[in-house]
Amino acid sequence: MFERLGEVIRKATDKIANALFLDKDLVDSIIRDLQRALIEADVNVALVKELSDRIKKSALDERIKGIEKKEHIIKILHDELLNLLGEHKQLKLTSGRNVILLLGLYGSGKTTTISKLGNYFAKRGFKVALLGLDVHRPAAQEQLKQLAEKNKLNYFIDTKEKNPVKIWKKYEKQLKEYNLVLVDTAGRHTLDAELIKEIKSLEKEIKPTENILVIPADIGQAAKQQSSQFKDAVNISGVIITRMDSTAKAGGALTACAETKAPVYFIGTGEKINDIEEFNPKSFLSRLLGMGDLETLIEKIKSVTEEKSQKKIQENLEEGKLTLEDVIEQVKSVGSLGGFDKIKSMIPGLSGIKAKIPEGMIENQEAKISKWQHIVKSMTREEISNPEILEKQTSRISRVAKGAGVHTSDVRSLLKQYKLLSDMIKSGSTADLSQGLSQKQLQKFAKKFGKKMRF
Ligand code: GDP
Ligand code: MG
Repeated sequence: MFERLGEVIRKATDKIANALFLDKDLVDSIIRDLQRALIEADVNVALVKELSDRIKKSALDERIKGIEKKEHIIKILHDELLNLLGEHKQLKLTSGRNVILLLGLYGSGKTTTISKLGNYFAKRGFKVALLGLDVHRPAAQEQLKQLAEKNKLNYFIDTKEKNPVKIWKKYEKQLKEYNLVLVDTAGRHTLDAELIKEIKSLEKEIKPTENILVIPADIGQAAKQQSSQFKDAVNISGVIITRMDSTAKAGGALTACAETKAPVYFIGTGEKINDIEEFNPKSFLSRLLGMGDLETLIEKIKSVTEEKSQKKIQENLEEGKLTLEDVIEQVKSVGSLGGFDKIKSMIPGLSGIKAKIPEGMIENQEAKISKWQHIVKSMTREEISNPEILEKQTSRISRVAKGAGVHTSDVRSLLKQYKLLSDMIKSGSTADLSQGLSQKQLQKFAKKFGKKMRF
């Protein structure tokens, strides 16, 4: 469930982590992907819009810069998604007696869920009984019986009696010996007056400790209406969403329940007895993100962004100048991220450009960087801050190459890299560099230099 949404969110966080600049274009493209994935998961469009507006607003908050900004955006993204999933509320059973009514329409998964819950709590030491009060469907009690026998759970049914209250009364005394009684009730096609009446009379007689509404995930956003209708008509303490495994609309059902403030206790994730899990929005989201908690996520960003060097490059960029050391730092950090796709994604606007990098170039990067470092060491201060003078004097290049123990072509390659990046800065010199270059400027740059990029 939610594979695609998870993938989109993971990609978005990677993009944020790897970006040199978090400009409007990058934020927009991330938000667009996220919106598409959420809507595909059937999350309400208005909710998606609200969420993306909030993310955008804080992502473009100019008071926060550099790495803090990355952390900030990831945190906002995380918090907004968590908010969408609703509050965490656990189904708390007492050590005394617990009687739970499972309510819901036809085919929502009540009977299956009763057996799953019975098994779940029996394993946790509860003395469990299943009670079949679905008197309307002839096969309902038989289904409960089969599930109970298969899973060695105690059950009480009466296939002849058509009045559920009478069945309850018949077993009431016996059921006192159990500390968890799970009551299967009848559904209808819709929540009509007859069903409300039946539920109310059961409630009055049984005095359950919990009324749980069972909603199938495949109804998606319609879960909102169903949840609020049931909440208005009878007391609902929480919800169980079934069939999370068999629909692309699970996001709709989950977020709809959060909207009606009906806590989701459990989710059903398959037809088998163990296919049920407690719903915890935080861990659900962590799994969706494909990693641990928020801290882990932020750690990841820190590890790909060396704060100091990034800050320095940023400062130099803001002043419109770049030193050779910056170039090396940048190529080094690109190298530690690995892969040309990553390199491209670091520079907003370049991700869509197909620049050809000869194979093997990237593999040789480390050797190249170490050469470059030697080169810079054998340069004078003047040459470092003003590399253009080298280009004009071949004798300087030869001297530096000799001193560094490298070929003159190595020195030229560093100068070329330097020129490439400083031209990039010049071409965007009118831009607010703290916000990154505009899409247009980058495209212009990429067009001009894309094919020449060599790392
Ligand atoms: P009831 O009418 O509310 O009692 O619904 P049932 O318990 O009879 O379930 C209706 C159908 O949904 C059955 O075919 C179940 O096997 C199926 N079902 C229930 N829960 C899940 C679930 O979590 N995943 C899947 N894939 N199927 C489920
Ligand atoms: Mg049933």
